[in-house]
Amino acid sequence: MTSRATSNAVDPDCLFCKIVAGAIPSDQVYADDAVVAFRDIAPQAPVHVLVVPRRHLSGIDDLRDEPALSGRLLAAAAKVARLEGVDEAGYRVAVNHGRHGAQSVGHVHLHVLGGRQLRGELG
Ligand code: AMP
Repeated sequence: MTSRATSNAVDPDCLFCKIVAGAIPSDQVYADDAVVAFRDIAPQAPVHVLVVPRRHLSGIDDLRDEPALSGRLLAAAAKVARLEGVDEAGYRVAVNHGRHGAQSVGHVHLHVLGGRQLRGELG
């Protein structure tokens, strides 16, 4: 049975939907039935991986009623951190949303950043 977390609504114009589908290449580091993780094309730290749902959702606002998928995304971020070897030293998981949040790609994604001491400022 397909759960909401693993259903696969796609936006044909969305960059990350195209990456999930393999139509645009990416350096993938993790994938499961709900989530795909790949390296950011313009890394801001030695480890910079984006964790995205397979299903198209524009931003974190669309996760309001999606506790299962939200949990899958966070769990995948923690798995990626372990796979990338930054779990012990520490890392940051960040989500940008909307204009003031400086979101540039309209498919919700978690940034997993690590591999060096990160700066303290978030805003
Ligand atoms: P945000 O600004 O939070 O929306 O993050 C979008 C991220 O997507 C940025 O860090 C970009 O560098 C990254 N990005 C854009 N295009 C690609 C791509 N083709 N492959 C991997 N990462 C990308």
